[in-house]
Amino acid sequence: MSERIRRVALVAHDNKKVDLIDWADRNRDVLADCELLTTGTTGRLVSERTGLEVERFQSGPLGGDQQIGARIAEGQVDLLIFFWDPLEPMSHDPDIKALLRIATLWNIPIACNESSADFIVSSPCFRQYTRRKPDFSAYRSRPVAGTDA
Ligand code: PGA
Repeated sequence: MSERIRRVALVAHDNKKVDLIDWADRNRDVLADCELLTTGTTGRLVSERTGLEVERFQSGPLGGDQQIGARIAEGQVDLLIFFWDPLEPMSHDPDIKALLRIATLWNIPIACNESSADFIVSSPCFRQYTRRKPDFSAYRSRPVAGTDA
């Protein structure tokens, strides 16, 4: 079924927060029509700057990335805007990789920087798109070595 992007996850590392807040402010009208899911600090800063309502999870290093990943696995996220920091190692590097992995797995569009985010929100696909939901039935029923199943 063709749908518009409705549920948008926003995450930014500290060195990228200004970029994301500025981007969100520039795209306030578009985002006002969306449900926003965010990690803790990103969400606080975005809502302080834009006045937009956000659903805030834990801060990323405290499990927020995993909470957003869980929403993706549940089919509750249409777009991930994730401005991660390519210059700094992070305490929660495994969570960052996991979030990018799960979004890729479920065929969720991902923007990791401002220009990608601009391309996505200005695309006609933002307003109408049929995202192919991957079919994992073959994976789920795969034979497992050492079992009868
Ligand atoms: P934060 O988390 O929005 O709570 O800072 C983002 C992150 O560092 O993953």
